[in-house]
Amino acid sequence: MTSPWPNGARVAVMLTFDFDAESGWLSRDPSHKDRPGVISQGRYGPNVGVPRLLDLLRVEQVPATFFIPGWVAEQHTEKARMIKDAGYEIGHHGYLHERAQPEDPEGEKRSFARGMGALERVLGLKPSGYRAPSWDLTPLTLTLVKQHGMFYSSNMMDNVFPYVHPGTSIVELPVQWTLDDAPFFMFHPTFLNRPMNSPEVVYGIWRDEFLGLYEWGGLFNLTCHPHTIGHPSRLLMLRKLIRFIKGHEGVWFATGREVAQHWLKVAR
Ligand SMILES: [Zn+2]
Repeated sequence: MTSPWPNGARVAVMLTFDFDAESGWLSRDPSHKDRPGVISQGRYGPNVGVPRLLDLLRVEQVPATFFIPGWVAEQHTEKARMIKDAGYEIGHHGYLHERAQPEDPEGEKRSFARGMGALERVLGLKPSGYRAPSWDLTPLTLTLVKQHGMFYSSNMMDNVFPYVHPGTSIVELPVQWTLDDAPFFMFHPTFLNRPMNSPEVVYGIWRDEFLGLYEWGGLFNLTCHPHTIGHPSRLLMLRKLIRFIKGHEGVWFATGREVAQHWLKVAR
C-alpha cells in the first residue's frame, strides 16, 4: 500500500489534549460547583497538569493540539495563553463542556457560538477544528463546524484513517476510547466509581495500538486531559510512549490542522 502521509511516512501521530479543567465536572452536574473537593480534580489541570505537560512537550519537541472549552479560556486565561504562546494548536471544545442534545439544536448553536467567541476574544484566534465535548455529535454539528469556518472534526470512531465527511469539505480525524486517558484513569468514589489502571497497563495498550497502526499506516490520534494524564506516574508513561514512537522510522508527528490540511490535498 502506498503511504497517504507526507514524505512516505508510515504513520501519522497526533498528540491531543482536551483542557477541560473543572468544566467536565460542572457540566456533568452544576451542583458540583458547591463541592470544591470534586472540582479540585479538574483544577489540577491548570494548576499542575498544563505547565508540566508543556515542559514535557517542549523537551520532546513534538507538536500537539489542545482543545479548549471557551469557559476554560476565560477562567484559566494565563494557562491557555501559555499553550498558545508555546506554539501549540488550539481547537474548539464547546463552552462549558455541554454535551450537545439532538432535541435542543438552539442550545447546541448557543454553546458552539459562545465557545468560539471566547477563544477569539480571550486568545485572539480562530480554531481550525472542533472536538465536541465527550465526542458527542448531533445531526447539526458538522453544519456548525462549517458555518464557523473550521475544516476538521475529531470525534468519530468509524475509521483509522481520516476521511472527508460526504457532501462536505470537513475532514474527520477519527478517535477511539482505546487511545483516551479518561476511561483508564478517571475516578471518583461517588460519581465515577470504576477501577483505575496502572500506567504500565495503559502504556502497553497504547504502545501496541501504535505498533498496529504502524503496520496499517493509519492515524494514531491520542486524546489526553491535563487533569488526568498530568499526574507524575502518568506523565512519565507519556514521555516513555513518545520516546518509543520516536524510535521508529517514518513517523509523522503533526497537529490536527496539519493532518486535516494534508488529507484535503490527497483526498482530491
Ligand atoms: Zn473534554
